[in-house]
Amino acid sequence: MFKQWFCRCEARLRIELEGPLLVKSGIASLDGPDAGPVLTLHGGGDAMPFIPGSSLKGVVRSHLERIARGLRPNSVCIPYLKDSTKKLPDGSQDCVGCGFRLQGLDLKPGEAYRSSCAACRLFGSTRHRGRMGFGDAYWRTGTLKPAMEVRDHVAIDRFTGGGAGGLKFDVEVVARGTFETRVVLENFELWQLSALVIALVDFEDGLLSIGSGTSRGLGQVRGVIEDLWIDLVKANKELVGVAQLAPEQKKQYGWSGWAANPSIQLPDNPERRGLRYRYRLDAEWREEAFGQLVPGFRNFLAERNWLDDIQTLVRERTRS
Ligand SMILES: [Zn+2]
Repeated sequence: MFKQWFCRCEARLRIELEGPLLVKSGIASLDGPDAGPVLTLHGGGDAMPFIPGSSLKGVVRSHLERIARGLRPNSVCIPYLKDSTKKLPDGSQDCVGCGFRLQGLDLKPGEAYRSSCAACRLFGSTRHRGRMGFGDAYWRTGTLKPAMEVRDHVAIDRFTGGGAGGLKFDVEVVARGTFETRVVLENFELWQLSALVIALVDFEDGLLSIGSGTSRGLGQVRGVIEDLWIDLVKANKELVGVAQLAPEQKKQYGWSGWAANPSIQLPDNPERRGLRYRYRLDAEWREEAFGQLVPGFRNFLAERNWLDDIQTLVRERTRS
């Protein structure tokens, strides 16, 4: 596991509901609705709905996986796929989850990371922790309290897509609310910052839906970046990632050397936070730098053949 610290990006986000939201609690009650949102007593007072960070992470992961597959077919694994005999058109094996491929192998530090697909490098697998994490999203104090509403749904027949024999069930949803959360990217490669930027922009444009029933129109949200900053282990004029900050470990971890060209300038006068240098990235900076960062994700997917890398490692390890 990677222990040293080099860089970190943190974004504070506001999440505005554009329609009803249901993040299921999975707790059935005897009388009330058949499904309801997760609740918390965070901050004291009444039980309030919240959006677990794990849900947000799942949504962003699948969004980026979809984009990655569109940019380059089979560029990311299917994390829960344990085994497959299906061959891809190019003769390689189907996208079995990186964690399952590496299961039981004795790996040196950096090897699991180096040979994993883009999504597992970002979000982790059973073999290593991911770089991107989300906090739980809580009601934003000072805004209108979240409003709950019971809706009845017609059960959909899984095979015909029509109503299933007139079955109905009640669902309690969050009809209105403003939430806030944070997303953190630790020891990022610059293409990973690119992936975060793509996710943030799509979030701002309302392209990500959260929770259950998204196919029925639930969970439409819009994100707003309230604050964004980068902490670096040493002051730097240009935006750099872990590959530039620790070049001696680049090979071990397989970090991509991608950087925007021309390079992206960081604001002057970083704030000292303990041993870190903090660069606050305002809306004007983001406007310009986001566009320069975006090609990084596509570039990473194009430059690496994840399936070859991971198959080579597995072959080597099972032989020795
Ligand atoms: Zn993977």
